[in-house]
Amino acid sequence: MFDELRDLYQEVILDHGKNPRNFGKPESYNRTARGDNPMCGDKINVYLTVDGNGIIQDLRFDGRGCAISQASASLMTEILRGKPAAEAEALFEYFHDVCTKDDDEQGVHENLDEDATDKLAVLSGVREFPMRVKCATLAWHTMKAALHGDPVTSTENSAF
Ligand code: ZN
Repeated sequence: MFDELRDLYQEVILDHGKNPRNFGKPESYNRTARGDNPMCGDKINVYLTVDGNGIIQDLRFDGRGCAISQASASLMTEILRGKPAAEAEALFEYFHDVCTKDDDEQGVHENLDEDATDKLAVLSGVREFPMRVKCATLAWHTMKAALHGDPVTSTENSAF
């Protein structure tokens, strides 16, 4: 089982690292934040479109970084699309736990989308590499900062 999870981990990092999903600054969004992981040199921008009901209708990212940071960001955009902001934060807490704590020390995480937690559990392989945990969680910290930031209009932040 362990080997199987490790193979999956490498597969996910390779797949999402090479072909990141939802990469690139969108034309419109209403929340954004920038994340920086100086330990590794990862930099990321996350762009969210949150509707009036608190549902994340769209999320995209851009930036540069190691394969793990890019793969984690890519996976995050797939997982969180269409989810309520509150569930996005709950999933982050779950992910942070599985990346940093032993199984018996993790908090109780209830009512989470099983498909999402299964995907995130694969990335928990970073727990073996403490230096990499910041890479794996950077996109999630940035997403959370964007959710808590002031709403923006995309024209304010656009380059032109
Ligand atoms: Zn990194």
